[in-house]
Order: sequence, then C-alpha cells, then structure tokens
Amino acid sequence: PVDRSPEIQEARLKLPILAEEQVIMEAINENPIVIICGETGSGKTTQVPQFLYEAGYASSNGIIGITEPRRVAAVSMSQRVAKEMNLSHRVVSYQIRYEGNVTDETQIKFMTDGVLLKEIQKDFLLSKYKVIIIDEAHERSMYTDILIGLLSRIVPLRQKKGLPLKLIIMSATLRVEDFTDNNRLFSVKPPIIQVDARQFPVTVHFNKKTPLDDYSGECFRKVCKIHRMLPSGGILVFLTGQAEVHSLCRRLRKAFPYQKNNTAGGEDDKEDSVEEMRKFKKSRKRRKVMTLPKIDLNNYSVVPVDEGDEDRDADTDDDAAGSDIDLDLGDGDSEEDEKSDSSLPLYVLPLYSLLAPEKQAKVFRAPPPGTRLCVVATNVAETSLTIPGIKYVVDCGKVKKRFYDKITGVSSFRVTWVSQASANQRAGRAGRTEPGHCYRLYSSAVFMDFEKFSAPEITKRPVEDLILQMKALNIEKVVNFPFPTPPPTETLAAAEELLIALGALKEPPVTGRLKQQLAAKLSCPISPLGRIMATFPVAPRYAKMLALSRQHNCLPYTITIVSAMTVRELFEEFDRPAVSEEETAQLKGKRARFLQMQKIWAGQGPMQKLGDLMVMLGAVGACEFAGCTRKFCEENGLRYKAMLEIRRLRGQLTTAVNSVCTDAGLYVDPKMKPPTEAQATYLRQIVLAGLGDHVARRIQAEELLDDKWKNAYKTALLEDPVFIHPSSVLFKELPEFVVYQEIVETTKLYMKGVSAVEPE
Ligand code: ADP
Ligand code: MG
Repeated sequence: PVDRSPEIQEARLKLPILAEEQVIMEAINENPIVIICGETGSGKTTQVPQFLYEAGYASSNGIIGITEPRRVAAVSMSQRVAKEMNLSHRVVSYQIRYEGNVTDETQIKFMTDGVLLKEIQKDFLLSKYKVIIIDEAHERSMYTDILIGLLSRIVPLRQKKGLPLKLIIMSATLRVEDFTDNNRLFSVKPPIIQVDARQFPVTVHFNKKTPLDDYSGECFRKVCKIHRMLPSGGILVFLTGQAEVHSLCRRLRKAFPYQKNNTAGGEDDKEDSVEEMRKFKKSRKRRKVMTLPKIDLNNYSVVPVDEGDEDRDADTDDDAAGSDIDLDLGDGDSEEDEKSDSSLPLYVLPLYSLLAPEKQAKVFRAPPPGTRLCVVATNVAETSLTIPGIKYVVDCGKVKKRFYDKITGVSSFRVTWVSQASANQRAGRAGRTEPGHCYRLYSSAVFMDFEKFSAPEITKRPVEDLILQMKALNIEKVVNFPFPTPPPTETLAAAEELLIALGALKEPPVTGRLKQQLAAKLSCPISPLGRIMATFPVAPRYAKMLALSRQHNCLPYTITIVSAMTVRELFEEFDRPAVSEEETAQLKGKRARFLQMQKIWAGQGPMQKLGDLMVMLGAVGACEFAGCTRKFCEENGLRYKAMLEIRRLRGQLTTAVNSVCTDAGLYVDPKMKPPTEAQATYLRQIVLAGLGDHVARRIQAEELLDDKWKNAYKTALLEDPVFIHPSSVLFKELPEFVVYQEIVETTKLYMKGVSAVEPE
C-alpha cells in the first residue's frame, strides 16, 4: 500500500493515465511486451512505475527499471516519483553515468539508457529486473534503439527460463511503426495502448515573415507583447542553446523587473487579466486579423492556411472580430518594448540540460504571487519535462544539433529547423491545463518545408562505441541485428575499421574482392583487448589509452585525461555575446585570468608538448587540490558542473581499472603530482595510440601556394586545410605534427584537444 499525501492524490486523479490504470495493467499481465502512447504530460513516466509497484511487480526477486534518454529526466523523475509515493530515494532511486543513489532497498530504478546497456553486458538476462520500461522511445536515441533490439531477444529468453520479464515501451507519439511493423524485431505485434491525453486546443499563430537570423530578438519582442497584452498564464520559450537562453533571460528581466517584495499587479488572477485586458485594449492597433491554420496535436496533420475552411475563424474582418482579444500578435516589430516596466513583473527562469538540478527544479514550483512565469528553455522542455501552468509557447522553430560527417567523423554544431513533429510537440506544451496559444516565429510556408520527423540518432552519428559494446555481447554479425532502424552500412564499416585499427577486433583474413572484404569486416569477433576496452565506460579510443597505461605508473594521468576528454567543455566560454558593457568587461577580465592559468597548467618541457591535454590535466589537478569548489572554478574559468562530473568519472574509471587489473591498487589522489618527464613522454605515446588516425602535419613553406593554407595542417582524411583552434594552448606554437581529439567545423575546420607528436 502506498501512502500518498492528499495534494498528490488530487493531482494524480487529474492525469488522463489514471483512468487507464486497469486497461494498462491487464495488458501488461497478459502480454510480455506492451507499448503505451500518450501525449507529454499525460502521466506515463510518473504513473506507470507506480501502477506496477502497486500491482506487486517489485519484489524480492526483481525490481522495476525505467530508462530515459536524458540524464535530467532520470534524476528529476526519480525524485518526483519518490515524492508522490512518499518513499525514500533509497527505494525509488536513479543511476546516471556519473552518479546515482541506488541501494539494496531500491525497488524502482530510473537510469539513462546507456547505463542499462552496460548492465546487459554484465548480465545479459537482466535477472535483477522484473520489468523494464523504455521511456521516451519516440526520441529514438541511439541507446534506446539498441535496447529495444536487445530486449526483443531477452524477453523470450527469460520466458524460456520461466522467469518472465515484462517490457513496456512508452512513447509520446503514435509513430511506433518502426517498432511494431518490424517483424524481425517482434514476431508477434505487441498491443498498443493509447492514453487519451486531455489536451486542450492550442491555436497556432505563424509569423507572416520568417526572421532571417535574429530569432532571439524576435522571441524577446513576442514575449514582451504576450506579457503586456494577453491574460495571465505561463510562457514557455524554445531557443537553441545555453548562451541564447541566458541572454534572453537577462533581457526579459531587465524589461520586466521582478523584486522579491514586489506585489504590483495584485494577487488576484481575475484582476490581473482585467488590468491586462485594459492595457491591451489601449495599446491595440487596428489591423486585419490573420486567419490561422489549426493543428491536430494527435496526428500531426496540419491544415494549411488556405485549406480546411471549417477550422477557420469567420472573423477575418477586424470589425467583425467575435472575441475581444486579438491573440494574433502579429510579427514583433514594436519599438517601445525594451523600456523597463516594473509594474508588470515577469518571473523569468532558464532551463537547459547543463543547468544545476536545484535551478532546474524551480520551474516546477508556482511563480511568486503577482508575477507571470516565463521559462526560457532549450529542447529539454519539448518532451522530457512537463512544466505546469504554461498557456503560451513561443517557438523559434530551431534546434541545435551535432552533425557528423559519416566518413571523417568531423562534427559541427548546427542550428537547423526542427521537424514538424517536434514543432507540434512544442506547441502541445501550451495546452496542458487550459486552451493555449503557440506563436511560431516562422511562416506556415516554412513549416510545410520542415521534415516530418527527425531521423533516429543511430543513422546520424559514428557508432564505434555501440559496435564495441555489441561485439562484447558476442553479436558478431552486427548487420543482422534487429535494429528498429539500421545505421547506414558505411557508418558500420567505418566503426569496424576503427575498432580493428585499435586492436579491439580480430583482423579479418584479406581475401577476395572489396565487397567480400567488407562483409567479412562486418563480422569480426572481439579480441581480448577489446573485451577489456568494453568494460570501460568511455569511447573506444579512450578505452585503448586506458588499456595501455599500466607502464610507468601512467594510469592516474590517463584516467584524468580521458575523464576530461569524455566530459568535454571544461572551460567557460569567454567569447559569448555579452548583454551589457559591464559584462563585456567582466568577460575580458575572466579571459585574461584564464589565459594566465592555461599557461601555468600547460607545464614545462616535455609536459608542454602534451598541449591541451596537459592543460586538462593541470586544470583538474589544481581544481582537486583546491577541494573542487564552486569558487575555485568560477575564479579560474572552469565549469563547476564539468569538474564534478570529471571527479565522478575518475572515480568510476579507477574502479573499472582496478577490477580489470586487480594488482594495480589505484585510488583517486586529489593531490596528484604533475607527471615526470618520462611519464609525459610516455603519455604522448599513449595518446597517439588512441588517436592514431587523428594525426595532422603542418603545411610546409614550399606547399604554401594559397593563402588559405597559412598556418594550416593537412590530415589523411580531409582534402581541406585544418587549423589549431584559437582556444588551444598550442595555437601559436604550431608544432610540425599534432594529434587532435576532434575536428569541429565552425568558420573553418578546427582541431580541438591538440598535442604535439614527434616525427618518426
Ligand atoms: P509524461 O511522462 O506522460 O509526459 P509525466 O508523468 O512526466 O507525463 O507528468 C505528469 C504530470 O506530473 C505533469 O502534469 C507534470 O507537470 C507533473 N510533474 C512531473 N514532474 C513534476 C515535478 N517535479 N513537480 C511537480 N509536478 C511534476
Ligand atoms: Mg515522460
């Protein structure tokens, strides 16, 4: 029996999924695999684990496991469910790569999908689980896809053993044919339960024109208009990245300051809207009201502007407007918006995945009385987290994604249009508690050109880590694996080739034509070294470095470097756009200080040749020496959250290494001394072994025919020149040979994480 508080009980009863409890539980009792579809916010993630718990699915012989593609969701959902059930986090727990609070008492375990994949490696039958729930399957994250493929085999195996495992796949969309209509995956089509979300209608307003690039400014103007003119209700803004989120937050806070004791505007909602309405009417200009297409949030079909007349409002003429409020705010172009107005406090909160959890949690609480909530978010608010009280959504229509070149692995962050499915998910956020409005900062014509759905992650990125893990599970013929959507063959071949080069797979006998070779390569078995590498929770290149570091007592250093390279983004960004002169000066000061520290961390002599990797090592060492405090990080340009993650990953890697070589006796030393000369030299060889195909040579003077080759490097893989990134400590040194962690394309092709290597 679960002892819930009356408030929680009341909130639960409002969730659409509660009405389906019996149907869902019957389906689960009678079928090994069940698919549940329901709009975001219908209660899938928080309630289904509770249904199972109450039905006795968690017991001494197995627990309930739930996977999430995002860390944010794993942590915050475990906390929410613990709270709803009035149970301790010892019982409802989470595990993400870097941390967790799982105990022997854990009955419900939230984890990232990558964590469960690692567990399958240790125990293929997942015998400690009675139920596995794969959440957010519609996101099609790479690990979620693979888990579904693996579980399609594990479930029947458990059945044969007489220890049945239930698999529940949950999705926010009805687009599940890739799972259900794939009979290599499930020979018997699993039942689909559709939860009728009580989604209120959302009116979608398109901009007439699509701003060319300043969508952030357009967001600002739109939020200002909503806040000034429209009745109460929270605003959710979708932007693409952390820097944008912060700068919009600052701008909005300046425009509508909120002080703690400021109760301007009154606490009564009704008065609020009367007041807002009055202001609105005063400021309203007479103009033609545009007709708006309506979207059906259940099937994503869009009625284009000139079709579906039954959905159109008749009041195209301003004078005939049936409603008193003109909710179509027009494209933002008003001049007066930037003026500060403290009579209309706006409670502005940022939300993105790297934000500290205690700050993330703020969005779930009611805003202070007399204020309006405005959450400025990245994609994390699209489906993983449901923010209460949102009535208006402002959607820039863009998303920032990492793109990889299939052959070279060169990656770039690009801001692109979202898919229609994503845009509709975003719009849906406005209709959770009452009818809402979504303002799209692009035209309906642009929307019609969006792709329908985003492609599954597995088809878009390199897969060597995945392939190594599959090989460690003795899945040799990876091409035969029941992928929900298989990755392209060239990506698979590139992964196998890299793993062979790293020694993780046994080299195939070279025979016959190219095609046969390729086929052979796609079924290479794992080598003993590969098995060791697979036990480390890092990319295969880095795992190779760890496996080589026994000699010269290099392990603690390699572990630190690998942790830093895995966590990425250790340093604060100093060239982000500042909103005030004060901030510009502040950033300048911080950068100067950082450059100084970078020199110190880079060390001297052979250490210096380790370049950026030595900087990472020095920075982590210095930070740990100072006790890894927030203060130290802020003063020295380090990202506190990254440093904490590095600390945890170092701990994990140390444990992993100790369990492979039981005599290593490693521990994480906060007072790690800098490496000796011999160690520094050896470390460079280790790095080269992991990044052997990432070598670049400086262009020689005689090859300098074209100015674009000035200070450029040539790599084996690319035709175009590559450059050392300006943030690198070797930016001015320009060593003849370098290895790099990765190439990122921005204005040019830039190498990041650069070390010098000696020519042979
Ligand atoms: P789904 O998984 O179907 O998207 P959820 O189970 O995540 O739905 O959410 C159900 C409800 O619980 C939503 O209305 C959401 O606002 C609420 N909720 C989720 N997390 C929290 C939290 N940390 N605090 C308050 N309410 C929450
Ligand atoms: Mg959910």
